[in-house]
Amino acid sequence: MTTVFKFGGASIRDAAAIRHLGELLAGVRTRPLVVVVSAMGKTTNALEALLAAARRGDNADYRTRLERLRHDHLATVEALFGDRAAPVTKRAAALFEELDRRHQCYRGEARPFHYDQTIGFGELLSSTIVNAWLNEIGVASDWHDARELVITDDCHQAANVDWRATTERIRGLGIAGDAVVLTQGFIGGTPEGISTTLGREGSDYSAAIFAHCLDAEEVVIWKDVPGLFNADPRRFTNAVQLERITYDEAIELAWHGAKVIHPKTLAPLRQKAIPLVVRSFEKPDAPPSIIAAEGPDAAIPAFILAEEQALVELHPRDFSFMDEPRLHDIFGRLAKAGLHAGLVDSGAARLSLCLDAHPARLDPLVASLACDYSLERYDALTLLTVRHPTDALLSALSGTRTILAERCNATTAQRLFLGSECPATWQIPS
Ligand code: ADP
Ligand code: ASP
Ligand code: MG
Repeated sequence: MTTVFKFGGASIRDAAAIRHLGELLAGVRTRPLVVVVSAMGKTTNALEALLAAARRGDNADYRTRLERLRHDHLATVEALFGDRAAPVTKRAAALFEELDRRHQCYRGEARPFHYDQTIGFGELLSSTIVNAWLNEIGVASDWHDARELVITDDCHQAANVDWRATTERIRGLGIAGDAVVLTQGFIGGTPEGISTTLGREGSDYSAAIFAHCLDAEEVVIWKDVPGLFNADPRRFTNAVQLERITYDEAIELAWHGAKVIHPKTLAPLRQKAIPLVVRSFEKPDAPPSIIAAEGPDAAIPAFILAEEQALVELHPRDFSFMDEPRLHDIFGRLAKAGLHAGLVDSGAARLSLCLDAHPARLDPLVASLACDYSLERYDALTLLTVRHPTDALLSALSGTRTILAERCNATTAQRLFLGSECPATWQIPS
């Protein structure tokens, strides 16, 4: 049975990290193996900034950014291959030429389409370099273009998978025996061959797609943390690693914003009872976290912080209620803007929404809502979500903070605090 490995940006951020990945793959006997890689380091952010420069028509900024990206990737190739770099350099340089050509060609098109034709180049570059490196060190691997395997609709920037077509394509590879298949996360393509993307941080989801289609034995996502914790270990000094949790609990954590796993990753795995293992890239032998159908009986409290949040409060302009037609209108606009409300609270003539304060997405939505509703907006807020809360935990975490909105049901409590304390660290109360 096939195993799927996924390596995120941090685990292939430079030549040393790629060497480490090579040693890791050479050392594990797991075969056949599908390896899904993200873009190197923060390349996707850099590609988004390049896209913005192209769309602004700021040619000087565009050229500087393109040159920096080209320089960084070619420097990694040089550091890895030394005097044997020429063939890989040639392939990477050709990808940069194609990227530049696409920007010239698509800068007048709608942004989501332009985005999908260019942002996936981070994964195309990283997978080209990693594949060449694996072959260099004797781990024979075959590079495959995920745009021809993960078949989607044309909902650009959040494409939906056509499971039947994708299963047919992926199974058509005939992966067996000692095969190592190397491919890209995050990207797909329409049946007509137009590039699409699955949403930011979507490489975890790509790994799940391959695993689901291949009835894989397990998916391992290699991270810069030892596993899944009951809170982000970088923010909560006393977070504890979860040895085993259920798909359902992990889905809740991801859905509420735990950045460690893309929320769409778990459902395709749960359907086929394929375990998801979260392991340390730096310490491969450290005990991992396992997400599977069975978990511990007792519910463990877990904590999710979302910073840089905005609260948008809407009231009808006339004397009407915040009724279904209005809710339908407002949530329709949210969906169109690709925004998810982390907390929703409503009253007879009020709707409060807590949203990511992502200027490119939120500002146009707020402007459009302000035309039809009376609107107030509060910025620099922090949303804390607690799974399996107790009153004592909630009051200790809230302390003297000002609460702007809150919500609580049997399993989850949320509090929206005034202030964004980034990069403050938090303590889980004992
Ligand atoms: P990738 O390189 O695979 O994209 P990510 O950066 O998306 O990795 O995910 C790893 C990061 O997720 C960690 O560095 C950690 O700070 C953060 N994180 C957030 N919540 C959690 C959690 N509950 N458990 C572990 N890590 C978490
Ligand atoms: N490279 C993409 C991103 O940064 C996908 C991923 O890393 O999962 O969003
Ligand atoms: Mg990620």
